Amino acid sequence: MTEVEMPAAYDDTNIFAKILRGELPAHKVYEDDATFAFMDIMPRGKGHCLVIPKKPARNILDVDTTSLSAVVATVQKLAHAVVEAFDADGASIAQFNESAGGQVVFHLHFHVIPRFEGVDLKPHSGDMEKPEILAANAEKIRAALDQL
Ligand code: AMP
Repeated sequence: MTEVEMPAAYDDTNIFAKILRGELPAHKVYEDDATFAFMDIMPRGKGHCLVIPKKPARNILDVDTTSLSAVVATVQKLAHAVVEAFDADGASIAQFNESAGGQVVFHLHFHVIPRFEGVDLKPHSGDMEKPEILAANAEKIRAALDQL
């Protein structure tokens, strides 16, 4: 029997690697030397966005701590920005590792989701949000980031 190696190797054909290379579009909200943030195309709540490192990493099991630190710093910026942008009561931060851990796209990412009292997250429906709504929400987040 072949043993599965942990962590598995990074595969640069994943969707987020394609977004980083400009091969697929994204509603960008933030970028610096080490990180990139954009709207989740199937949001589980209004303003749901994702933060990724530019340096290839499959997930938390193989990322180097320099890259991870940069991502977490951007996650904190985005958490402040989404709360401000949507007048939210809080924010949820989520991160999944390998299929067993709920990971679907194998480039490290953190979910940043504004939260509102009494409003549950939507289930994973597979429904894509309208591009104009993603664009409008991205604009609100960029404007909030400018004010931080
Ligand atoms: P997970 O790997 O389970 O943490 O989730 C991957 C996330 O990526 C899901 O929330 C998807 O809605 C999101 N997603 C998948 N494809 C795209 C894309 N092309 N642009 C933005 N978000 C995406």
